[in-house]
Amino acid sequence: MSVRVRIAPSPTGDPHVGTAYIALFNLAFARSLGGKFILRIEDTDRVRSSLSSEKAILDSLHWMGLDWDEGPDVGGEYGPYRQSERGDIYARYAQQLLDSGKAFKCYRSSEELDKLRADRREQGIQKAFKQSDLELPAEEIKRREAAGEAYVVRMCVPDEGTCIVQDRLRGEIELDWANVDAQILLKADGMPTYHLANVVDDHLMEITHVIRGEEWINSAPKHQLLYEYFGWDMPELCHMPLLRNPDKSKLSKRKNRTSINYYRDMGYLPEALTNYLGRMGWSMPDESEKFTLDRMINNFDLGKVSLGGPVFDVEKLDWLNGLWIREELNDQQFASRVADWAINPQYLGKIIPLIKDRVEKFTDIAPLSGLFFNGLPILDTAEFESLKLDHEAQIKVLQFASWWLDDQQEWERDALYQGLNAISQKMEIKLRDFLQPLFVAMSGTKVCPPLFDAMTIVGPDITRARLRHALLALGGVSKKQAKNLEKEFRSIKDSL
Ligand code: GLU
Repeated sequence: MSVRVRIAPSPTGDPHVGTAYIALFNLAFARSLGGKFILRIEDTDRVRSSLSSEKAILDSLHWMGLDWDEGPDVGGEYGPYRQSERGDIYARYAQQLLDSGKAFKCYRSSEELDKLRADRREQGIQKAFKQSDLELPAEEIKRREAAGEAYVVRMCVPDEGTCIVQDRLRGEIELDWANVDAQILLKADGMPTYHLANVVDDHLMEITHVIRGEEWINSAPKHQLLYEYFGWDMPELCHMPLLRNPDKSKLSKRKNRTSINYYRDMGYLPEALTNYLGRMGWSMPDESEKFTLDRMINNFDLGKVSLGGPVFDVEKLDWLNGLWIREELNDQQFASRVADWAINPQYLGKIIPLIKDRVEKFTDIAPLSGLFFNGLPILDTAEFESLKLDHEAQIKVLQFASWWLDDQQEWERDALYQGLNAISQKMEIKLRDFLQPLFVAMSGTKVCPPLFDAMTIVGPDITRARLRHALLALGGVSKKQAKNLEKEFRSIKDSL
């Protein structure tokens, strides 16, 4: 049997380093055994999925050198590789489960479900919803059916007992059926949920090993049961440890930069980032810290992945990136990498219109355009102290702008202007005063080329990082403070 593995990202946001990490281990496993590595897009959440996010994920993984054999952009014999294009397939399999009595139609409205939940809370019952809890009298089902009311398809799950799932790294994992809901398989709009689509696709795409993040362990019993219901063999499961912040909490964008594009825009080498991710829970037999993807593949052994939470530490990455630059790039290669990064006509072409009016000679360029090539500026608190708003108001402005910018998927100049302008109005702060701390955050000084153009050109990842860096330079925001600010921000956001 030849090995076939996959990653199955959902295109609902920025390309995450966690996705690259799982992709890398799948790829290394497949290549080390002469197997195939597949990329499937899990975009059944039609509200949150976007083509721009899909493109960003594909581009950033290609940038890292993590190329796949089959996928939406390269095709393959098991396509389509986008779940939104496979709707008929899921409907057919859901019907099969209905016909064999392994799933049921549930006509419960969301109000009814809320009420059921509230009643349980009142009675202090903490139990998952099973078929018997959700069932309506036969007459009522008939009536709702005849009236064409919306329904979902749910899978039948045992009321109690333990489910034992085998995991390549963890051995037997025991989970309690009592905690597992009668999972929705098909939503009212006919779209499948992750669980149905994932199992059906892994089977039809002949996936032999599912190597994915630890956060999916709780889904494993439902998946195992679905394989049983269909009478299919289940791929071998392997749940990788989650990446962690240096304080050991789950890697999050609040504490770390999680977007692959941030590392690209900051000027890390893709080989170094890939190498660094390869060290997360795994090491070369000779313990060498710097290695190429090919060397990793040649020495790869999935069984050697260690489960202690691997820490994603940017300082270590910096060190490794420096090694790569110094040891692997001759001067010519260095120059060409820098050109790829930002010293190229395409990038300069965006900057020139903003500085041209102020340039009398080319030596004026560097001082005027530093912020387009900088990472996080050195911030002098005196610069903030000289601004119109007081310290507290500056924190609020930076925090609200930062939260709002975090949510922006499309990064377009006029939209950024309109959004931040609207927030300043809601906060009853003159736009000019509101923008001052943002100027300092972006450039380190009050003088900055037009702010919204600058944000557009340096892009979402560097802009967000600079705002967060400025917040820290101002002393940061305590948990308690963040809670209060979040409440205020939510009400502003809802009224935009
Ligand atoms: N769509 C899931 C994700 O976003 C896939 C999880 C899996 O690999 O089963 O990661």
